[in-house]
Amino acid sequence: MEFNKKSIAVIGAGPAGCMCAYWALRQEGNEVTLFDCAKPLQTLLYTGGGRCNLAWAEYDFRELAKNYPRGEKFLYSVFSRFSTADTIDFFEKIGVKTYTQEDLRVFPISNSAKDVREKFLSQLKTCKFKKEKVLNIEKDSDKFLVITEKNEYFFDKVVIAVGGHSGFSLAKNLGLEIIEPKPALTGLITKENFKSLQGVSLKNVKSEVSLNSKKLPTLNDDLLFTHEGISGPLAYKISSICARLDYNKANPIIITIHLVGNIDFQVLLNSNPKKDIKNLVSEFVPKSLSEYILKENKINSETKCYNIKAKTRDLILNSLQNFKINVISPAKKGEIVTSGGVCLDEIDPKTMQSKTIEGLYFCGEVIDVDGFCGGFNLQNCWSTGFIAGQ
Ligand SMILES: Cc1cc2nc3c(=O)[nH]c(=O)nc-3n(C[C@H](O)[C@H](O)[C@H](O)COP(=O)(O)OP(=O)(O)OC[C@H]3O[C@@H](n4cnc5c(N)ncnc54)[C@H](O)[C@@H]3O)c2cc1C
Repeated sequence: MEFNKKSIAVIGAGPAGCMCAYWALRQEGNEVTLFDCAKPLQTLLYTGGGRCNLAWAEYDFRELAKNYPRGEKFLYSVFSRFSTADTIDFFEKIGVKTYTQEDLRVFPISNSAKDVREKFLSQLKTCKFKKEKVLNIEKDSDKFLVITEKNEYFFDKVVIAVGGHSGFSLAKNLGLEIIEPKPALTGLITKENFKSLQGVSLKNVKSEVSLNSKKLPTLNDDLLFTHEGISGPLAYKISSICARLDYNKANPIIITIHLVGNIDFQVLLNSNPKKDIKNLVSEFVPKSLSEYILKENKINSETKCYNIKAKTRDLILNSLQNFKINVISPAKKGEIVTSGGVCLDEIDPKTMQSKTIEGLYFCGEVIDVDGFCGGFNLQNCWSTGFIAGQ
């Protein structure tokens, strides 16, 4: 058994745990041990498709917090102390210069998550790394007993930063409330069979979303059809907003997509009498989607425009103006973040310390905070990691 004075254990060497370790190390007398069952900052390598979308260029912290379906109010206090500008500044200081894309996503100039990982780890040289899985944490008078698969250690303070995929039991065993984890930022499975459209993408589609006749926010974003439904930024956003709602085959989320605005379809039919209807429709949507719409409406795609009767015209126009997608569940694979985790009522946002167990802290995805795609989830790690580390 090892005994450390003024010692801090950070469980989980992901972005949040490493950020916390960095700031904890800067305070005199602190000895920081980072536990991880995998390599440190391994999860960072997959972010942003290997480019690491490390923040979103919104500099007003209240506006930034609006991008978190869970945790918006909790993050006001957190972001008021460490927000986008601080993240960019922090990375600049450790040698990672950043740039902002047109869509406001912030990336390292190297476009390399590997480079960010290396630069970050080079700052943690005075930190002890232990490649051990933590099995349990117990509070033993004024110390914490950290039990790993290999050993047992005593620490003065413990930070739980195990992310959203495993390790909730560490907090649960200490008596903290856990909000049931559910997938967010996933593709979506639809009632419709979109196999013939697999790989087709639509740019910046305008959509309305409803569940149980209740309207959810209107969303504009890119959409991708997959073998089992839809994916891409629009699907991710919907999966995030609906992560904690009950939807299924009998009670689907209904997405209405406006593929065209107000058009006079009869005028178009009249001006192209000899055109096949599929070619006229594909002036507005990709060819395979035009074929899909006609097939769904049981219309021969080679019908000449002059032969399209009023009822058929209205069916096509309605499909283009109000293309319906019924979502029955999140995709089984490909979850990017977890909604749920340690209940925010348990944590003081000013310190990230447990309200009931002194010396126990949390940061990152393990807490019940999750954001949209665009750098928001890493920003949560940098900000809560900073505060816990302080
Ligand atoms: C494919 C993909 C791409 C993404 N891209 C982006 C992006 O570009 N921008 C963005 O903002 N977000 C992105 N995210 C989300 C972001 O990566 C996560 O929100 C972030 O990694 C969470 O950081 P964390 O430190 O809280 O947890 P994690 O990154 O999950 O790290 C937790 C660490 O704890 C360790 N651990 C767990 N349990 C134990 C235990 N019992 N004992 C010891 N160690 C343990 C794990 O091995 C892990 O290393 C992406 C996610 C995925 C899956």
